Amino acid sequence: MTYTKFMKQENLINGEWVHADNGKSFNVSNPATGEIIGSVPASGYDETQKAIAAAAAAFPSYSTKPLLERVGLLWKLHDALMDNQKSLAELLTVEQGKSITEATGEIIIGAAYIRWFAEEIRRNKGEIVPASAPDRRILVTKHPVGVVGMITPWNFPSSMLARKLGPALAAGCTVVAKPASATPYSGLAWGALCEEVGFPKGVVNILTGSAREIGNAIMSNPVVRKVTFTGSTEVGKELIKKSADTVKKVSMELGGNAPFIVFNDADIDKAVDGAMVSKFRNSGQTCVCANRIYVQSGVYEKFVTKFKDATAKMKVGDGREAGVEQGPLIDMSAVEKVEELLSDAVGKGAKVVLGGKRHEKGETFFEPTIVTDATQSMRFSKEEIFGPLAPVFKFETEDEAIKMANDTDFGLCSYAYTRDVGRIMRLNSKLEYGMIGINSGLITTVEAPFGGVKESGLGKEGGSQGLEDYLDTKYTALDF
Ligand code: ADP
Repeated sequence: MTYTKFMKQENLINGEWVHADNGKSFNVSNPATGEIIGSVPASGYDETQKAIAAAAAAFPSYSTKPLLERVGLLWKLHDALMDNQKSLAELLTVEQGKSITEATGEIIIGAAYIRWFAEEIRRNKGEIVPASAPDRRILVTKHPVGVVGMITPWNFPSSMLARKLGPALAAGCTVVAKPASATPYSGLAWGALCEEVGFPKGVVNILTGSAREIGNAIMSNPVVRKVTFTGSTEVGKELIKKSADTVKKVSMELGGNAPFIVFNDADIDKAVDGAMVSKFRNSGQTCVCANRIYVQSGVYEKFVTKFKDATAKMKVGDGREAGVEQGPLIDMSAVEKVEELLSDAVGKGAKVVLGGKRHEKGETFFEPTIVTDATQSMRFSKEEIFGPLAPVFKFETEDEAIKMANDTDFGLCSYAYTRDVGRIMRLNSKLEYGMIGINSGLITTVEAPFGGVKESGLGKEGGSQGLEDYLDTKYTALDF
């Protein structure tokens, strides 16, 4: 049971591990078995204010530490993750359900984000812009924004925090983070790791509890200068509205509805591999999962046959079992949502060619499912599925595919399989998405700016852009 090594059951506030003020806690269970694995503080407004005060107190000295000291702490944090990847991955699987292979990948990419931002901050250059007068200089410099509030979801409980902690801590910001209630342990583990490698007290504060109370405390406090959120578009919109009162910077990684387009000239085997990883990773619970698979008529039958054969081979089960590729869904409401979307589609003429019901492994498990003859009138053409249901649509022309792909309020990630360079450049211009995977179904990487357009969000995570969000630009006019 190595996963208990970093399994903290208290809040980290100002360098102390503490219970909620009223001593209350709530249980956390393993979605694969329903077994309660522990309990964490049911904190609210007051605890959040203490955490914000601790972060504010830590900011002046942390933000002015010699750069290489901050960078050194991040390097140690990276190494601590890599040294403990097995126990951290197990903890992630036990609270979230994903396979050990995927959980290990998540810990490794989290470590990579920390290293990336430790590197990027050393190139955080300002500018001296030519002024019109000879005895004037225009200095443009960048400064940490201050205290940052972070609210993270349950689908990637470790790496979603990594993409926020990395740039914040590199820039010199201090942090108040709230992990999702379904999966608080991987978030709290970041606190334990930061403590272990020597971040000063108050730099990283992490607390669990009521989303509304903690969220409101973060949003209403003028000391918090930036809020970064990953989660649903619905909650993101609420947070954007609340940010107005104190004019906070916001970064929002919200929902998606990814189109996955396969053209007649595609390498079909590659497209099937891409569809598998894009659709079924994390049991379909990622915001970049293929939500609508559009296949051109000339390769439709061939694609469906191969996709079905590959999907039928997937091993479903408890993420801790060797060889398991798909774990449970996070909870019963996630299962019910998939069922609702499936029955809506079948009622409107979709054909189930694989799966279609709860899996015999247990009530939170759902069979990897493929439906064909999908149409734009079905609910999943507008809504995020967040489960292992793959709808396949048929199309005839490039224009038709692009039109259908863009017919959504979301604009996070899109995918297309084709070998025509001209078409690739047309897709680059016309797809209204923050990210486009060409001949690849897995494109998240630390070097690239992850983020959406339209109602999928604001700001970028990763790439050099991921650091900008944690910095304010200051202009100094200098006469001499
Ligand atoms: P999902 O459950 O799909 O990940 P949510 O947007 O519901 O998306 O949750 C993402 C994170 O936002 C979680 O940490 C959750 O507890 C938090 N959250 C939910 N509602 C609110 C709210 N009203 N204010 C602040 N945070 C919230």
